[in-house]
Amino acid sequence: MKMLKGKKGAIFGVANDKSIAWGIAQMLHEAGADLAFTYAGEILEKRVRPLAEKIGSKIILPCDVTKDEEIKQVFQNIRQEWGGLDFLVHAIAYANKEDLTNPYIETSREGFHLALDISSYSLVALSRHAAALMEGRQGAILTMTYMGSERVIPNYNVMGVAKAALEASVKYLAYDLGPKGTRVNAISAGPIRTLASSGISGFKEMLHFSSERAPLKRNIDQDEVGRTALYLLSDMASAVTGEVLHVDAGYNIMGM
Ligand code: NAD
Repeated sequence: MKMLKGKKGAIFGVANDKSIAWGIAQMLHEAGADLAFTYAGEILEKRVRPLAEKIGSKIILPCDVTKDEEIKQVFQNIRQEWGGLDFLVHAIAYANKEDLTNPYIETSREGFHLALDISSYSLVALSRHAAALMEGRQGAILTMTYMGSERVIPNYNVMGVAKAALEASVKYLAYDLGPKGTRVNAISAGPIRTLASSGISGFKEMLHFSSERAPLKRNIDQDEVGRTALYLLSDMASAVTGEVLHVDAGYNIMGM
């Protein structure tokens, strides 16, 4: 049985075929969903368009989440093409390189605002537009976070603070949208090699450390996140909202 047959979803955050959002998208496509994709700038369009077309996507639009006009345009297009939306995947994060290298105490005002704007506020903005299209459809919203929100991960710095704000936003959005039947959840994934993670100083050590210490004694991959996303976005999770679900081979439970 195709769990998402007839469902329409928007995927924000594919940069290339290593992106977590692409791992999620492939799983949702296999489950029968129709997908719309966005890309952040012309350079990424060259990567995203062929991937999206490969799985039959007809809606492929630019969206820099710092630009309200571009966000508005995406949802206007979706309304015109589909008339509504069943789910939204938000897999977007950004911080300046120096803010993922220098001590956290050195974070500039500008770097702090940028990281929080792109990595946290964007979920609020996208959810507001998506919710309007989810009226009467039991919608579901999903974002991606990391354990650096809960504990200190050296070099994750301002991104950890942005992820803490993102996770708190998941709960407040779940409260706001719950009465309309729309659910909002996050997946807290273990480290995976991607374009974004390559910007974190010492990422190789993170991979090594977590595979050694995690109960399952290994790292995770995009497909495993994709399968959890399918669960959270489908009716299988119809009573799950405001949740942060760890997909990290169990790493987060360890004390020592
Ligand atoms: P990625 O580089 O493939 O994806 C990051 C995406 O953010 C890219 O598509 C990029 O275009 C987008 N983005 C950045 N600035 C943007 C802007 N201004 N407007 C619109 N989009 C913008 O890397 P990824 O690892 O797949 O990251 C996806 C999500 O997963 C992020 O939220 C990341 O923090 C989270 N995550 C990643 C890991 C990991 O180890 N890779 C672990 C846990 C959580």
